[in-house]
Amino acid sequence: MSGVDEDVIAWRRHLHRNPEVSFEEHETSAFVASTLEQLGVEVSRPTGTSVLGRLRGDASGPVVALRADIDALPIHEDSGVEFASQRPGAMHACGHDGHTAMLLGAAKTLAAEGVPHGEVRFIFQHGEELAPGGAREMIEAGVMEGVDFVYGCHLWTPLAYGKVTAVAGDWMAAADFFEITITGRGGHAGLPHTAVDTVACAAELVGALQHIVARRIDPLQPAVVTIGSFHAGDAPNVIPGEARLAGTARSFDPDVRGLIPKLMEEIGHGVCAAHGASFELRYVYGYKPVVNDAAATELVRSVVRDELVDLDPIMGGDDFSAYQAEAPGCYAFVGAGGEYPHHHPRFVIDERALKIGTRLHVDVARRVLG
Ligand SMILES: [Zn+2]
Ligand SMILES: [Zn+2]
Repeated sequence: MSGVDEDVIAWRRHLHRNPEVSFEEHETSAFVASTLEQLGVEVSRPTGTSVLGRLRGDASGPVVALRADIDALPIHEDSGVEFASQRPGAMHACGHDGHTAMLLGAAKTLAAEGVPHGEVRFIFQHGEELAPGGAREMIEAGVMEGVDFVYGCHLWTPLAYGKVTAVAGDWMAAADFFEITITGRGGHAGLPHTAVDTVACAAELVGALQHIVARRIDPLQPAVVTIGSFHAGDAPNVIPGEARLAGTARSFDPDVRGLIPKLMEEIGHGVCAAHGASFELRYVYGYKPVVNDAAATELVRSVVRDELVDLDPIMGGDDFSAYQAEAPGCYAFVGAGGEYPHHHPRFVIDERALKIGTRLHVDVARRVLG
């Protein structure tokens, strides 16, 4: 194993031990900044917890941006690895520790060989896991100015180690978020006829909302409506006067995306009215879909060797899409084969994948710079 690959594993394990959740990546970004400085990369801080590295050639030429997200999740780690999180309630359970380390590894290689012309920009982005996401802030701070090509990759445990996918067109869904408040009338649990039961109403609504995808949207259009949070009441003998639900909606097609909140309003008001309760929806449009540019994807595919496989698009979301609104780009997935899904307390990656991801960053940059 080369020195860079050993460094990448060591950096990744350090970050894994010391996770910081979205928008709180103070030590993580300081670690990235000091590592880049030691490598001879020009460093700036677009926001309080993000880092931009730049390698500029003497002559003008293409500008390629390579992006890694650096944030962890509010999950308590139960993976059993010896470099497990030392911070209760925080965990790198999506592989962003690996993304950060791989991009540092690419910076080391590219800094050592030098950039003859043009520029390589290393975007270490905060807050990917929490809408509205860190990409927006970094773009507002100017990190994409003059960029001709943007590339990023995500480690992906459902994909076996040794496989890489880079697919043109729709790749990751639009990710929107919502909160629902159901208001009834609290009361005695033994005298339900004197109250308006928000728990029974909310329970019915969770089921009814599934009719949006099952019955109201074209079955050939991908869509998801998930309730991830359901809160009501504190006592077994009290009917609570309020119930709160929260969740996420995923889609690709803009018409489907616009239809989902309209149908939620229609069904929500209908179900609640049927039980004498009232309904209120707060709906926030989150990340746009990740749509890979055809030419950019072809370039990425040309540097993948025997590893290339094609996958169907996925309903996960990523604010990499914000960069793709600024320059043609491709978001690739690198197989990191593991037993548990992303965002699981037992999530582990196959660390051999780090070498592939590091090499891809370097090869994409070299290819764009010609
Ligand atoms: Zn994630
Ligand atoms: Zn992720």
